[in-house]
Amino acid sequence: MITRRQTMIATAGLAAAAALPPGSTAEAAAPKRGERLPAVYRFALGELEVTLVHDGHARRPLDANYVRNAPLEEVRAALVEAFQPADAVLSPFTTVVVNTGAELVAIDAGNGDLGAPGTGLWRANLAAAGYRPDEIDVVIVSHFHGDHINGIRLKDGTPGFPNARLLVPEAEWAFWMDDGQMSRAPEAMQGAFRNVRRVFGPEAQKVERFSGERELVSGVTAVPAFGHTPGHHAFRLASGGQSLLVLSDAATKPELFVRRPDWQVMFDMDGPRAAETRKRLLDMLATERTMVAGYHFPFPAVGYIAREGSGYRFVPAFWT
Ligand SMILES: [Zn+2]
Repeated sequence: MITRRQTMIATAGLAAAAALPPGSTAEAAAPKRGERLPAVYRFALGELEVTLVHDGHARRPLDANYVRNAPLEEVRAALVEAFQPADAVLSPFTTVVVNTGAELVAIDAGNGDLGAPGTGLWRANLAAAGYRPDEIDVVIVSHFHGDHINGIRLKDGTPGFPNARLLVPEAEWAFWMDDGQMSRAPEAMQGAFRNVRRVFGPEAQKVERFSGERELVSGVTAVPAFGHTPGHHAFRLASGGQSLLVLSDAATKPELFVRRPDWQVMFDMDGPRAAETRKRLLDMLATERTMVAGYHFPFPAVGYIAREGSGYRFVPAFWT
């Protein structure tokens, strides 16, 4: 039913449109600005200041290998359900930068200048957040896949964070720096082993290794989350009664691996163990209603995990 008030509003709109001179539409006079806008998002978590810094996204063709243990048609259907292309995987990258009050801490380092087309925006976005790479005091690494560590050393060998301490998981270091593991690994993994040596080799003596569940810097605690890689970690940020779990790659693309946590992405090095870790953390997040950040979640990559059917659903945080 249309009320008298609605009729009046509609009529007023028509009158305004009729008053515009012909050919003087606003669009004709305003040039389009194609450049990207900064992609950073900041909020307070107790005494911590958290900034999400985006590094762009990569696009890869979807093939039957991408999800190791699901039929391609089901994967396509899940992507379509999420309003994404049925024939491609869009993979965003967003890191967490934490100002503890005493130190500026980057959790993972982005693709640097070695990522796929569409990536490499991290340093420009860090600048938009008001920080310079030489102001980062600590870089904490979740695992040694290139998209998480390449920002530590640029293509020309320059350190990405000249003044930072590098904190890495002991189990990750033990696996990737082991020459025996490298020699036994399939050809397809050789590049990843070489890349770890490229990134850390020149400063191996400066790298500090951590293991177990322990506080690395004020308010940031390492949480072992093995499976995606042998030493993969999540991180719990906690301050003033608030908390946020940085999931890293315990769940990568949420439209697939939060919805269907049993599904194993091709990059899960130990698939069953990765799925077990994923389900344990998602269950905890849904029960505790704790905030979560995911490295491959859609920007700004923070929100919550709700139960849905036999899986879960990512609910983006309310943007403030
Ligand atoms: Zn990743």
